[in-house]
Parts: sequence; structure tokens; C-alpha cells
Amino acid sequence: MQARILIVEDESSIAELIAVNLRHAGYDYVIADDVDMAIAEVERLLPDMVLLDWMLPGGSGLSLARRWRSNPRTAQLPIILLTARGDEPDKVAGLDAGADDYIVKPFSVQEMLARIRALLRRKKPECSQDSVTISGLRLDPATYAVSYGDTPLKLGPTEFRLLHYLMRHPNRIHNRRQLLDKVWGDHVFIEERTVDVHIKRLRESLSTARCEQLIETVRGAGYRLCAPSKPDDGL
Ligand code: CA
Repeated sequence: MQARILIVEDESSIAELIAVNLRHAGYDYVIADDVDMAIAEVERLLPDMVLLDWMLPGGSGLSLARRWRSNPRTAQLPIILLTARGDEPDKVAGLDAGADDYIVKPFSVQEMLARIRALLRRKKPECSQDSVTISGLRLDPATYAVSYGDTPLKLGPTEFRLLHYLMRHPNRIHNRRQLLDKVWGDHVFIEERTVDVHIKRLRESLSTARCEQLIETVRGAGYRLCAPSKPDDGL
């Protein structure tokens, strides 16, 4: 699953530099150049991460971080604060406001990408590009490939994201609401039974290699992917 990153930055040259590098690294991105646009974009698309400039027209990145942290829908939104201020009290203020990490301008692009990868791995494992293998079922986000043993499997985009999420969190029971949150993201107008429809399609795809039993229905609770042990991809 391609992570979607919101760049909140009013200096267009910096925003463009970040955007070019995110695109090269395989991320999807949107740029907001002021506070109102940033608020609107987060409401509209609920991104997987926000790169948030501190000083913005119409307000500060700090107040935006606080605002998002106080809303249940965006409380877990991964936020990296970008700022020219590098001294200790400001770092503390940024982290206190709810930022997960902090990058001081001017920053190296490689460092920025490394911090993005680390934060996504920590807070959005379903966005990770690392392949995952469980009980012979292998999913590779980088090549968008799923196979069971030697048999390649065909999955639709939603089933792919759903399977990726379940494989990243094996043996845990996920209810429909949680799956809508984690896999669909922006689900305000989506009914819970949509999850059942996509689970059914996912099982149909897996059944071509006779591994549909990996997805278990837990009556009255939700779904889980059964794994004998931890994912065997060495993460
Ligand atoms: Ca600025």
C-alpha cells in the first residue's frame, strides 16, 4: 500500500524538493501551503503521515499538531515537524504538541526519507514496503505480488490492502470497524458489511491456491489471519 503523505509547507521551493523526493521513493503526496488548506486536506483524505512546517501563514504547525491530536479521528496521525528552529526548547515544544519526530531545516533528503520510513514502520506497518510471509503465503508490496507456495494469486486493490493489514497483524481479532479504520482509512460513509464483501472476495482469491482457511471468521467478533508463529520475514 502506497503511503499518502501530506506536505504542509508554505515555501514552494522546499515543498517541491520534498515532493520530488517522495515521488521517487514511491510515496503519494499532496501539498498544502497554509493552515486552512492543511485542515481541509486532512479532513478530506486522512493521510498516512503529515510533514508539518512550524511557521505557516494563518497559524503555526504546533497548533495544527495539537488540533489533530485532540480529535479522535486524527489522534494517531503520524506527524513529523519541519522547522528552521533547532534549539532544545523548541524541540520539546514540538514533541509536547504531539509531533512524533522533528527535522531541522536545512535537512538532508536521505535523513528525511529514513525518518519517514522509520515512523511509517512504527505507526503504519500496513504502509511498509517490506514483503511479509506467513505459512507459505507471501505478499510483496513493492511488486504488488501475492503467492502461495509457487502459485501466484490475483487480488483486487482493496483485497490486497486488507490481506496486507491482516498479515502485518496476525492472530489478532479485528472487528469490522477497526478494519475500516486501518484498511479503508476514510470510511465515514462506508457500511461495516463492506468488510464482509471484501473478506469474501479475498477468500475466493486465496481458494485458487487452497489457502483460504488462513482467514478465520471469529463469530460476533471479526476476522483474523492465523499464523503458527511470527511473520517469517525477519522483521
Ligand atoms: Ca514556513
